[in-house]
Amino acid sequence: MTDRSRPRGADMPPEEFRRHAHAAVDWMADYLANVGELPVLSPVRPGETAAKLPPSAPRHGEAVEDILRDFRDVIVPGVTHWNHPSFFAYFAITGSGPGIIGEMLTAALNTNAMLWRTGPAQTELEERTLDWLRQLMGLPDGLHGTIHDTASISTLIALAAAREAAGLGVREEGLSGRDLPRLRVYASREVHSSIDKAGVTLGIGMQGTRKIDTDGEFRMDPAALEAAIEQDRAAGIRPLAVVATTGTTSTSSIDPVRRIAEVCRRLDVWLHVDAAYGGSAALVPEMRHVLDGAELADSLVVNPHKWMFVPVDCSVLYTRRPDVVRRAFSVVPEYLLTPEGESVTNLMDYGPALGKRFRALKLWMVLRYFGAEGMAERIREHCRLARELARWIGAEPGWEVMAPVPLSLVVFRHRPHGMSDERVDALNERIMAAVNATGRAYLSHTRVNGRVVLRFAIGNLGTTEEHVRDAWKLLREAASAEAASS
Ligand SMILES: *Cc1c(COP(=O)(O)O)cnc(C)c1O
Repeated sequence: MTDRSRPRGADMPPEEFRRHAHAAVDWMADYLANVGELPVLSPVRPGETAAKLPPSAPRHGEAVEDILRDFRDVIVPGVTHWNHPSFFAYFAITGSGPGIIGEMLTAALNTNAMLWRTGPAQTELEERTLDWLRQLMGLPDGLHGTIHDTASISTLIALAAAREAAGLGVREEGLSGRDLPRLRVYASREVHSSIDKAGVTLGIGMQGTRKIDTDGEFRMDPAALEAAIEQDRAAGIRPLAVVATTGTTSTSSIDPVRRIAEVCRRLDVWLHVDAAYGGSAALVPEMRHVLDGAELADSLVVNPHKWMFVPVDCSVLYTRRPDVVRRAFSVVPEYLLTPEGESVTNLMDYGPALGKRFRALKLWMVLRYFGAEGMAERIREHCRLARELARWIGAEPGWEVMAPVPLSLVVFRHRPHGMSDERVDALNERIMAAVNATGRAYLSHTRVNGRVVLRFAIGNLGTTEEHVRDAWKLLREAASAEAASS
């Protein structure tokens, strides 16, 4: 319905905004209270949502009531609810009340801190909040933090800085049409695909990331790393960086960062630590060891939007060498010169983006609302639930835990006695599909040593032992149904 009462040429009037915004907040509070009753994995089929949307935008403005009705009736049914307490796929993430309020205020302020003067408080709150977080994670003084949208971008920036530090003149001359050695980045076989993608973007290529073997617990082998770098150097290849992972995606294994750092120091190679997921565990004092050696890294990424109760998006890149990051990225045209000059931080200098959303606000609100102890308590509980689940699985005949559980991820499978590996793979895929189709829990899978395994990732603030127990029951029921039908 067209809303003809609206004044032309201006924004929504303040009183109308107040009314609709209050209604939207009421919707949010009800949604967050009841999300556990919605199907966690949306049952929509591909194209179903698009088919309900008009092919072109309305000619005249519409009433907010109508827009919000479609939001409820068309959009929400097509949402897979990452807020659901039984979302156990990939890495379960979580928003939070204070985080959502922060995000709303960010939208209202709509600042863009490309330069200090275009966002003085934004710039300074980002630096201060990231210094708080650095201390909470037990990282050393002198690390400089900046916020980006995703770990993929944080890592891209870190590896671009490593390329700049190598002194190849890439910033000025680029990569093509020049006499350059082949460039190489090293990471374990278990590394996240964002490292391969960074290689693609930076002109290093997929082949430019060399995958190092892991030990029996899926951790990078530092001796194999050292041998690979030396072999490449002897062949005229230029090592740019090593990426160590604290909490790998498939199994949450933790690379031996300290020993890797020693190799990097000896061979003079940039060390980047991907702690996108696992770094949050360092907020728990007795789990600080997950970042052991990370103080020696040149750069490190951790995602508060993953396991620190901050809504997507918020990824933090720390570096000991902010000067190199600036050297890689700072380009200042006339129209961005300011009287403050170099005496202030201009966030545009720390990555490929010019504009900067005010993401620090939600992180600041979350850290203040929960406090260091509140954050630690919740992360500790997620890890306890994971260990508990692993114990139940390990004690159940026909089920096996497939990797150690250092954090809040359990990797496991069902393996009936005497069944071939190929049939076990297919069986686990069917069990997962059956559980996901119930809408009452959502799990994902990976391969470990070539075999299909299921991943049960705990990370939502609403998740309790009941939710974990229920999902474990659904898994056993799906396995029984499979046994009965074969
Ligand atoms: C989640 C994750 C990423 C990617 O994070 P995005 O923010 O989605 O880009 C990278 N590395 C690890 C280890 C992760 O867990």
